Amino acid sequence: MASILLNVIRNKHSNYIQQVEYVKNPHLDSMEEDILYHFNLGTKTHDLPHMFGDVKHGMGVPSISIMLHELIKLLYHARCRDVIIFRIGTSGGVGLAAGTVVIADKAVDSFFRPLFEQVVLGKVIVRSTELDKDVAKDLLQYSTELEDIPTVIGNTMCTHDFYEGQGRLDGALCSFSAEDKLDYLRKAYDSGVRNIEMESTVFAAMCRVCNLKAAVVCVTLLNRFEGDQISTPHDVLLEYQKRPQCLVAYFIKKRLGLIS
Ligand code: URA
Repeated sequence: MASILLNVIRNKHSNYIQQVEYVKNPHLDSMEEDILYHFNLGTKTHDLPHMFGDVKHGMGVPSISIMLHELIKLLYHARCRDVIIFRIGTSGGVGLAAGTVVIADKAVDSFFRPLFEQVVLGKVIVRSTELDKDVAKDLLQYSTELEDIPTVIGNTMCTHDFYEGQGRLDGALCSFSAEDKLDYLRKAYDSGVRNIEMESTVFAAMCRVCNLKAAVVCVTLLNRFEGDQISTPHDVLLEYQKRPQCLVAYFIKKRLGLIS
């Protein structure tokens, strides 16, 4: 959970507003607009200095791992059999047009390694993040039977941060150049990474250890070689977000024999 303190202090006795220098990123000042994608806010569309408040989020590895512990125990107590678990969601594309669905071959960490490191009692436990190959293959085949769901198989990189961790130039902190960013994305692409998100490694690792077949299906919202901000119109984003849902729903109907 993140508690966000907006960077404005209002003087009680006057309308004078003092801006506090929280951000340490030289790129921010040259941006015409800053879209805070996860909050659905923008510096042009919202009067941010007047919008104080705490914002609470469920995002990333800690959130999904807590949820999975309890979901997997639920499956156990309910004596479920032959379960396949899907992570569906959004991601940043690496060398792909926005709107492309990526079925993860493997989930990889920020060093492009197919593993998840969990610290347990002060020791690092390393778990494989391989996903079910047959499910991925069937998903790819089914995507060809649907209209307007461009789909590829590739590695999905999971990071612990949306901004610096994904090589963005538009966070509150940025310690690298635009060239450094592109260099990292090129290395990611060459290693097989096609999209970046924040949950897949722990998801893949936990499902694998618990003998659950699993797949990660995420749509790309932008091509990270072309930018960092998610500025696509809201209705287009909503349509993109439906793509993994449609594909997985189609897979489920096929597996249940509801369609041929
Ligand atoms: N989710 C991410 O983690 N990164 C993106 O670029 C888009 C969605």
